[in-house]
Amino acid sequence: MMSPTPRPLPDSFAAYIWTETAQDVARRRGLDPAAVIRFDANVPPLPGVPRIPIGESFARLNEYPPGGYRELHAAAASYVGTRPEQIVLGAGSDSLIHLVARTYLGVGRTAAVVDLPTYSLYGIASQIEGGEVVGCSLEDAPEAAAQAAVIWICNPHNPTGSVYRCEDIVALAKRRPESLVAIDEAYVEYGAESMVPYLDEVPNCIVLRTLSKAFGFAALRVGYAVCAPEVASELRKRSEPAPISSPSARIVAAALREPRLDVEETVQERSRVREALLAAGYDCPPSAGNFLLLRVEKADQLADELEAKGLVLRRYRNGLRFTVRLPAENDRLLEALGVAAAPSARRTGLVVRTTAETGVRVSLALDGQGRARIDTGVGFLDHLLTLFAFHGGIDLELLAGGDLEVDEHHTVEDVLAALGEALAQALGARTGLSRYGSATVPMDEASGTAAVDLGSRPHAEVALAFTGDRVGGLALSLLPHALERFAMQGRFTLHVEASGKDDHHVAEAAFKALGRALAGACASAGTQAITSTKGEA
Ligand code: PMP
Repeated sequence: MMSPTPRPLPDSFAAYIWTETAQDVARRRGLDPAAVIRFDANVPPLPGVPRIPIGESFARLNEYPPGGYRELHAAAASYVGTRPEQIVLGAGSDSLIHLVARTYLGVGRTAAVVDLPTYSLYGIASQIEGGEVVGCSLEDAPEAAAQAAVIWICNPHNPTGSVYRCEDIVALAKRRPESLVAIDEAYVEYGAESMVPYLDEVPNCIVLRTLSKAFGFAALRVGYAVCAPEVASELRKRSEPAPISSPSARIVAAALREPRLDVEETVQERSRVREALLAAGYDCPPSAGNFLLLRVEKADQLADELEAKGLVLRRYRNGLRFTVRLPAENDRLLEALGVAAAPSARRTGLVVRTTAETGVRVSLALDGQGRARIDTGVGFLDHLLTLFAFHGGIDLELLAGGDLEVDEHHTVEDVLAALGEALAQALGARTGLSRYGSATVPMDEASGTAAVDLGSRPHAEVALAFTGDRVGGLALSLLPHALERFAMQGRFTLHVEASGKDDHHVAEAAFKALGRALAGACASAGTQAITSTKGEA
């Protein structure tokens, strides 16, 4: 039987391969999924926070996005300092890479990729369009890429993290005015100079940007290209009409108008980790991205050893690339590499606990923005911990997989115990803290009060006056004991009480008050540090 014939691909073509999920790695390695830490994806450890009420966008799911995404064009243009007609939108910079290839490449045309191996999609998109792909360096590009319709440059370079100077890119673009020079600035926020201000001088350049990296919105799939209006209009002719969903467009426009990125923390942490690796004799070149490259000969063997411990890195022939995550998480990796690092100034904690009944991973950063990614399998517990993190100003990632088919008992208790352990880790020696904190939070008819003393004397008094047995999937009788475990493992004194007519509000008030009380106690006391009259900190 005849079958449809696709356009041919060259023999050398290798399709893009998605990395395995944490669940896949866990299954293959016989680990608990909560024990797997992904250092391979180059996304920040914590998600971006939508700065707009998102319910509104979800109330109009039957409608197409507003024509032309005017708001998002304006926000992206003002973020990079250009005009809206110079912006082209795509579903991630991946779709813009394909759009550039669709617009400028085809059978009989050549694409040059600077410094292979690099991000594989440049070659993939070029070959799909029928283009031939050649490798070159920035220095030999004018000759090697003499016929190239497109020259792909990743700046900062993935996976080495090195940067190209804009003046060198400008010089190349001027020598090859008939080539489109595409500069992928996916990681530019972490430390490279942008080519955007040079676009008037070299209108044959196009800059590709993404919301997936420094902004923490990879799941929303938004990218934008910045280029001369003439290039933009050629791209738009070949673009799909509405590449971005309305909720994504709204969240991202707000984020671009008021960017709040974790770049400074990541850059500091990148130096701390790199210095530790260099001191231990590893070959680790300087990086301007949110990742580092470890140059090692037996990369596969080392990657396997690390993966067996749940640490997943990206493999290259002579190296391993890993994303800079939170300090406590990076310390895990360094420890597995036999490297001792200087302590981070940031207060973070990481606890991975696996028992016969549950697997729990808690990663927290005090002094955060109250961001939470919580998935315990018990919806109402996720909700309470999200409120706790928000009101405590704690960035919290908490994943748990427990024996919920039995009941939620072990999960609830182990989650709070691990949270306490992570908190104790983050607090370290507990010097210079306010030490005491308290808060009362009303929730309609309910009210909750919490008081905390971080003076390392574990004790809990919990009085939650519930009128029923359950809220959603959570048996309320489990909360007092779980909060006791939290205080014991966290080594602090905790008093919580809450009452009201609606159990949902009672529990919410208690967890909000707990977050606020802890935030107060964990705050730096400056010169006013209260110490115990018995001489303990
Ligand atoms: N460019 C580079 C250099 C990347 O490393 C990545 C991430 N894999 C992308 C683009 C893709 O970004 P996006 O999520 O915007 O498609």
